[in-house]
Amino acid sequence: MTIEHNFSFETKLLHNEHKYDPTNGAVSVPIQHASTFHQHSVDEFGKYDYGRSANPTREAFETVIANLEEGTNGYAFSSGMAAISTAFLLLSQGDHVVITEDVYGGTYRMVTEVLSRFGIEHTFVDMTDLTAVKQAIRPNTKVFYVETPSNPLLKVTDIRAISDIAKSVGALTFVDNTFLTPALQKPLLLGADVVLHSATKFLSGHSDVVAGAIVVNDSDLAKQIGFLQNSFGAVLGVQDAWLVLRGIKTLSVRMNFSIKSALQIANFLQNHPSVKKVYYPGLTDHPQYEIQKEQSEGAGAVLSFELESEEAVKQFVELTEIPVFAVSLGAVESILSYPAKMSHAAMPIEQRLKRGISQSLLRLSVGLEHPDDIIKDFSVALETIAAKNQGEIVR
Ligand SMILES: *Cc1c(COP(=O)(O)O)cnc(C)c1O
Repeated sequence: MTIEHNFSFETKLLHNEHKYDPTNGAVSVPIQHASTFHQHSVDEFGKYDYGRSANPTREAFETVIANLEEGTNGYAFSSGMAAISTAFLLLSQGDHVVITEDVYGGTYRMVTEVLSRFGIEHTFVDMTDLTAVKQAIRPNTKVFYVETPSNPLLKVTDIRAISDIAKSVGALTFVDNTFLTPALQKPLLLGADVVLHSATKFLSGHSDVVAGAIVVNDSDLAKQIGFLQNSFGAVLGVQDAWLVLRGIKTLSVRMNFSIKSALQIANFLQNHPSVKKVYYPGLTDHPQYEIQKEQSEGAGAVLSFELESEEAVKQFVELTEIPVFAVSLGAVESILSYPAKMSHAAMPIEQRLKRGISQSLLRLSVGLEHPDDIIKDFSVALETIAAKNQGEIVR
């Protein structure tokens, strides 16, 4: 079944080549558990032979994500880190990576503690500073690694500008698109070569699966990534592929609802006297507001904010009732997290502080609760903290 229509993104989430199973009409992709497939002759093998190399359920997710990112080929992995690590295997000993400085903690660990052992060099730069990016280039620079908006400070990198710099020196641009997903940002259309996902987050959206993906739009890169996926073998299991496929169907409605709430919450926090700073690219005073508006269709559902002290953070976490306090983001329930001890715990404290990830910074991934309830919850918590600090008796 080929769907020829030029449907909009929202419609494509539901009406794609996996709309129903061609053999029996089932409207949910069947979960194919088989690890191996019968071959009819010695000379002629079928499309599938062994589950690590290809599996119909995993392939369904791979074609869906490739299509949504407007790429040609998708690859599913057992986690976001498996996808990212596999993509880095495109590099060889002696190569160099220019990488955004407030990168996801796990990627930081991979680059600094694993790739370095294999002779792959790196330079961290603030990718919002294009002069710094150009200065970081070495003769052996092969990859520019972008995460935008970044984690946890929501800095926005100009994907097109970085891709142009990369092309001018014959290097590739990798973009971790976990925070915005193709519902809001399509890096391949902005010149990137490799799109990476932690599908654990917004793509699946329900805090019930760990998964990752790579999407490319070049046949040579596709061949290399496919080869690496099969060689390294960190493929996504079929139950998990099905969960991601189901989550993707509601991606647009979840994203659009959460973005509206995120802006409301960001405005509330920005106007609150107990909040020192709010980081959200949807706020007009965000330093890269214009770039964000230009290259994406929304600022996403993640924001960070700084309270007055580490003690206030502790109290806020205890006092708020709605968000779960947890690692991760991109779920139906709002998730509050503490980067210093969670996502960025793998980063040494001096590196964290240098990047502006302070001990009083909290990150919020906005879910599908009514935003008024979240604002009320936060408001009560902040007032209670302020009252306590003024030595008042709080019941
Ligand atoms: C969570 C996350 C990852 C890692 O993905 P896992 O699925 O946890 O392995 C990578 N990048 C970003 C931006 C993330 O939020």
